[in-house]
Amino acid sequence: MPSENASDGIRYKVILIMTPQVLTILGSTGSIGESTLDVVSRHPEKFRVFALAGHKQVEKLAAQCQTLRPEYAVVADAEHAARLEAMLKRDGTATQVLHGAQALVDVASADEVSGVMCAIVGAAGLPSALAAAQKGKTIYLANKETLVVSGALFMETARANGAAVLPVDSEHNAIFQVLPRDYTGRLNEHGIRSIILTASGGPFLTTDLGTFDSITPAQAVKHPNWSMGRKISVDSATMMNKGLELIEAHWLFNCPPDKLEVVIHPQSVIHSMVRYRDGSVLAQLGNPDMRTPIAYCLGLPERIDSGVGDLDFDALSALTFQKPDFDRFPCLKLAYEAMNAGGAAPCVLNAANEAAVAAFLDGQIKFTDIAKTVAHCLSQDFSDGLGNIENLLAQDAVTRRQAQEFIAALG
Ligand code: NAD
Ligand code: MG
Repeated sequence: MPSENASDGIRYKVILIMTPQVLTILGSTGSIGESTLDVVSRHPEKFRVFALAGHKQVEKLAAQCQTLRPEYAVVADAEHAARLEAMLKRDGTATQVLHGAQALVDVASADEVSGVMCAIVGAAGLPSALAAAQKGKTIYLANKETLVVSGALFMETARANGAAVLPVDSEHNAIFQVLPRDYTGRLNEHGIRSIILTASGGPFLTTDLGTFDSITPAQAVKHPNWSMGRKISVDSATMMNKGLELIEAHWLFNCPPDKLEVVIHPQSVIHSMVRYRDGSVLAQLGNPDMRTPIAYCLGLPERIDSGVGDLDFDALSALTFQKPDFDRFPCLKLAYEAMNAGGAAPCVLNAANEAAVAAFLDGQIKFTDIAKTVAHCLSQDFSDGLGNIENLLAQDAVTRRQAQEFIAALG
């Protein structure tokens, strides 16, 4: 599906290795953000933190600033900025506090910065990731929504400006690790038959389908293997997460949709695989801990200590695999459809899903209404000429409104 001039997929040969790396960490107070700081703090000689961004979690952000002493900290608005400033002043931390969406863009594109960890959740992470791409930074990409909403634009911007895009998402990181070393994005030239994304199946893999209407937010965010933020945990429970990851892989690896497979692997030990022409399948294994892919990206080309323990084969009773069931996981089917439709469909899929997941977490709709909301929005008319970020964000806003109206009518 990607056109000739869209994207060449990841180019990791252009990574600049500077020591210490000067980092901006967007979403530092989240699950990925905290794991990143854990890895960074193990290697003070390799990394210096220039800016942290923590939105509304000011207590956590204040503690991070006190430890890491970044030049800048970014929060959501003036009210949160005033609270953070007061906290930092109390103990003499000199970090300068900025606020608002433009400040995220500024700290992602500042000249001093060499690498940007993009770990904001949702489409809110898109403008800052794109700004980092425009400035040719090394981008550690956790925020999959960036590629779902604007895959063509983002990858082309990164390519045109020499920005390396390194996948933090565990599946894509696994694939990246087992791709041929001279990989340049053209799958056939390297004998690759397909890319296989593994999925845990989430907490409801074997739950009676008849009880899905009564699934609570507390049950949905309780992932069996991974500890993650609330939104991605719900996405894992619906398997929308795997759908978003299909689209993410499509853009990252310039992989046609028909060469992407999903296999359910409930133990989450194999993080993904690549199937080759000669019958080989290469996999990356490890404990389910995001510090491994984070350390892989941050350390490249070196392997650095991540704090993750060795995989204990004696403790593994079995590695099992099964096909995903679209009746159980309609969101996965919707994502396949959006990926195949292309154009604005993935942007619509993502915006509708963000609105629906927020409403579910807020107790407004049932678990099963998430897929209904997404299907409704995908059935509306939407434009397919989305060449720039303004158009994408406008479509995102229109779809969110349509989702809200549908949600209100459900109630
Ligand atoms: P999280 O909810 O734990 O953290 C989100 C971070 O973004 C927090 O720092 C929060 O303050 C910030 N944030 C929230 N809304 C914001 C906004 N409007 N503007 C600016 N900042 C905002 O989420 P997470 O689990 O760390 O996930 C972050 C991203 O990484 C998501 O895109 C997710 O899909 C992706 N990801 C996460 C994992 C994981 O294991 N947690 C794995 C793979 C990919
Ligand atoms: Mg993942």
